[in-house]
Amino acid sequence: MLTLHVLGTSSAKPAKDRSVSGSFLNAPGGPLLIDCGEGMQQRIAGHDRWLRSIGSNERTRISKIRAIFLTHGHLDHCWGLLPMLHSMDKDSRTSRLEIHGPTSNAALDWVKENPGDIPSEDSGVHPGDLAIQFDWWKKHGGNGAFNFEIDWILHPVDEIGLEGIMIPNQNEIEIHAYVTDHGIPSLAYCFSTPELPGRFDTKAARLDGHDEEMIRTMASDAQNPGGYRGPIRSSRSILISGDTTRNVPSFSRLNSQIDVLVHESTFDDSLEKEAASYGHSTARDAATVASQMNARMLCLTHFSSRFQEVSHLEEEARSVHSNSYALEDGDRISIDSDGTIRLERKQSESWHLIREVQES
Ligand SMILES: [Zn+2]
Repeated sequence: MLTLHVLGTSSAKPAKDRSVSGSFLNAPGGPLLIDCGEGMQQRIAGHDRWLRSIGSNERTRISKIRAIFLTHGHLDHCWGLLPMLHSMDKDSRTSRLEIHGPTSNAALDWVKENPGDIPSEDSGVHPGDLAIQFDWWKKHGGNGAFNFEIDWILHPVDEIGLEGIMIPNQNEIEIHAYVTDHGIPSLAYCFSTPELPGRFDTKAARLDGHDEEMIRTMASDAQNPGGYRGPIRSSRSILISGDTTRNVPSFSRLNSQIDVLVHESTFDDSLEKEAASYGHSTARDAATVASQMNARMLCLTHFSSRFQEVSHLEEEARSVHSNSYALEDGDRISIDSDGTIRLERKQSESWHLIREVQES
């Protein structure tokens, strides 16, 4: 089961009822964070309080986060990180934390030669590159200032081919990163559960007269003695685009492997030119990408704060990909091992189901 709590759906600055980027993924093995815009630790804690108040057995606890994946170094995606680390420390965290992000080899070389400095415009290195920011954060509170160890892990995008890279992780999932197109080193992350054996039909085995011990033996044997298992349950995956134009060559290779695509949708049709020149996508761009990769559901996020409401972006996307939804802050997207996708929205005291998609 993968469950993504989307805790920020605005682009460069917060808007009414929308914070900047950040999502909390409950995955097998422990929770992960994708992007960390300003105020993220408060958003996660507030969401957790709400979950507790409705009696949910699911939680979003900052203390449990095992790793953080930053899509790129623009501040609306990462400026909540240092305060979040500070909060973790105040909460007496002792367990190690991994922080991943993209960079370039040029930026890595630059930091080695100019530690603690900011690159000038003619240096050829983007001042927002995460190699620069990691260097600063380590100095200003990230290195030795906390009671827990941090692994700062940078992935040079120049070394990542079309097939992306697999990121080793302590969770029971696979994590892949793909280079996106945003004018600064940037990555999309895909989180996939492993393929599982089919469900064992205990009822059918009992009806056939097997005793409980024999049923237990058969149920624990992946070779499927007795033939009581259903079909193998496929890997399930959710891909989070970060900021990007629609021109991501890696994405076209992912045909039919993605259940949910969470894609940025900063602009609408009327701002197509702006989308291309600022390294962003329109809702239609996002839906075109979702169709190309045969994603079963498209969830739009990262809306320009100029939009008071975003239903027209949803409509523009749906003209290309019928299962397209504009996200709101607090939305929950879940994919279970049988392939059922649910998009749910917070109501006062419960989740409201927006859409359920069964495996066809
Ligand atoms: Zn950006």
